[in-house]
Amino acid sequence: MNRLIVLHLLLSLVLTIAACAPEIEPEESCNFIQNSYSRRVSWGKVELKVGIEDKFPSQYYESLERAMKVWDQERPYNMFHGRPLILSSENKDAVDIMLLWKEKWQSKPSEQAKTAVQSQGDFIQKADIFFNANKTFSVNGEGGINMKSLMIHELGHALGLDHIDFPESVMYPTLPENMERTTLSAIEKESLGCEY
Ligand SMILES: [Zn+2]
Repeated sequence: MNRLIVLHLLLSLVLTIAACAPEIEPEESCNFIQNSYSRRVSWGKVELKVGIEDKFPSQYYESLERAMKVWDQERPYNMFHGRPLILSSENKDAVDIMLLWKEKWQSKPSEQAKTAVQSQGDFIQKADIFFNANKTFSVNGEGGINMKSLMIHELGHALGLDHIDFPESVMYPTLPENMERTTLSAIEKESLGCEY
């Protein structure tokens, strides 16, 4: 008899726990990357710390500061914290988002850059942006890939945004050489508002 009561208690405990488990509701993508529960994946904070690898040519440091400001202008608070730190690749985990200069490009040679986002549940924990050093980049958009435009695009990925198939969007999948795309379109402005 006692055993039965204990079993019943155990059973009701399990049922109560199951009833208390938060329900995972799917969300609209808002052009964000989604996890397997169709939930948007983003940072649980703003004022993200950004670092740039000391191997990165210094003429692009200013492009990064300008690219960060483009996203900062959109929300009532800063998406990024202060100025980027110049770090060695070994110290890349001292910041939330790190930009790295890769001479040995392991994936498709046509790629200009790529962003790797680590996440847990709905939250991004860390983002690393790799730039293909074999490509020709430029500061002002003449004779190469416009670095500021590319940085704006990759920072968008680092914030959790996916590609947006609208040519005016900074998140459009391709960036031709000599093209300057440095103004956020209404689409990514609205998307950003879903999460930040
Ligand atoms: Zn992309």
